[in-house]
Amino acid sequence: MSGTRGPRRVRAEVDHMRCVSNAMCVTIAPGVFAHNDQRQSEVVDSEGGTPEAIIEAAENCPTSAITVTDAVTGETLFP
Ligand code: SF4
Repeated sequence: MSGTRGPRRVRAEVDHMRCVSNAMCVTIAPGVFAHNDQRQSEVVDSEGGTPEAIIEAAENCPTSAITVTDAVTGETLFP
């Protein structure tokens, strides 16, 4: 394992009290986010996109409904 460098693994969560269903996150990271029956965004696969795409989706959410943390350390990456 030592010497290997891979992208860091991240975990995303959506606050459904904030999500306004504009699908920005689904557009930016379609393998990660999808709308449920209530047109709320849900994380379907935290590894369905690059960490960069997940953070970009969080940055572009108009209501900052998406929280991104490092899956290993728990460090908050966004917001
Ligand atoms: S970008 Fe934010 S508000 Fe829009 S669907 Fe995703 S979580 Fe909801």
